[in-house]
Amino acid sequence: MKKIAILGSTGSIGTQTLQIVEKHRDDLKVTGLSAGSNIALLERQIREFSPEMAVVWQEDKARELAVKVADLPVKVLGGMDGLIALATDPETDILVTAVVGMIGIRPTIAAIEAGKDIALANKETLVTAGHLIMPLAKEKGVSILPVDSEHSAIFQSLQGERENQIETILLTASGGPFRGYSKSRLRHVRPKDALRHPNWSMGSKITIDSATMVNKGLEVMEAKWLFGVDLDQIRVLIHPQSIIHSMVQFTDGAVIAQLGMPDMKLPIQYALYYPQRKASDVERVDFARIGQITFEEPDPDTFEGLKLALQAAGEGGIRPVVFNAANEYLVAQFLKEKIGFLDIAGYIGEALGAFPQIQDPNLEEILDAERETYSYLEERLKKA
Ligand code: NDP
Ligand code: MG
Repeated sequence: MKKIAILGSTGSIGTQTLQIVEKHRDDLKVTGLSAGSNIALLERQIREFSPEMAVVWQEDKARELAVKVADLPVKVLGGMDGLIALATDPETDILVTAVVGMIGIRPTIAAIEAGKDIALANKETLVTAGHLIMPLAKEKGVSILPVDSEHSAIFQSLQGERENQIETILLTASGGPFRGYSKSRLRHVRPKDALRHPNWSMGSKITIDSATMVNKGLEVMEAKWLFGVDLDQIRVLIHPQSIIHSMVQFTDGAVIAQLGMPDMKLPIQYALYYPQRKASDVERVDFARIGQITFEEPDPDTFEGLKLALQAAGEGGIRPVVFNAANEYLVAQFLKEKIGFLDIAGYIGEALGAFPQIQDPNLEEILDAERETYSYLEERLKKA
């Protein structure tokens, strides 16, 4: 029996993880569930999966939930202390980090310190603290199992290749809903347009990141940390059908890829059961019906979020933290229609220029830079 806790069980990845548990009750058991504020769904999940612990980030909602589930033997906690308690629960074998944003950093580090394996969806944590997390995971002997579909594809392509050297990682991208758009067309797009992803159904933050191509920039950084390659070994390739989830080219020129229909249940299940492949009823690829799969170069001059991400990644240090924090703040503003679509990359660029470099930032410096980036942008938007 594998015992799992989920950080962010009410979101897109969290609910799909529970759909897998639902089908594998014989060998998966939920020990902990958590949400930001959605206690209505969290209560339903608690009643269905009987975890020992449930955590809500918003303390007032945690108290409300405790009253609602008073008939059950579940411990309800709130805030960061609660998230860390969930992440380090001695009952748990593997933590699924399905929370969105840098809020995942502290619980993820705490889980690794407590020796938990991590099924990692929460890419923002690796982007901003990969230099702390990867060595710590190695020291503690825990596995960081990628859930992000591209990284799962790369990880699957590397099985049995331990002795061999990666030449290039070919990181595929659908191009999002605005592939082929010019800057002048992008100026007028609204949140409802950006939220319409052609191939994937995901949470709103990552869906906007896919529309700006910031997501692919974050994924380049995620791949660098997960697979220990240099940035110039990672090449982004637009592949609009999202059938090839990414590829690895080895030094002999051979390319190994993982293919499948776009469905996160496959990479989530692979991470939960690694190295085993379990039967699954995800839709099968019907190649004859798909007819063709195609590729294009990305357009970082139009999708400047990708260009800025690659720059920040190249500079390293505190820059990916500022990049990511600025993006989190600005995506929330765009969703509230306080700024335009192109302003996301525009203000990220300004924020990146506003902070001095810090090499090899520690946890405190990372969390300070997050707060300072938020304050900087708050002031900047007041003046706009
Ligand atoms: P969602 O927005 O759908 O879900 C986010 C989850 O995090 C919810 O459970 C939410 O709770 C919870 N949450 C939000 N804020 C807090 C907080 N302060 N404390 C505790 N919990 C919080 O996001 P996704 O599932 O789409 O994405 C999750 C992560 O996985 C992201 O890092 C994303 O980049 C990555 N990812 C997602 C993919 C996808 O297909 N969705 C694909 C690849 C990667 P509540 O419901 O209460 O707000
Ligand atoms: Mg992805």
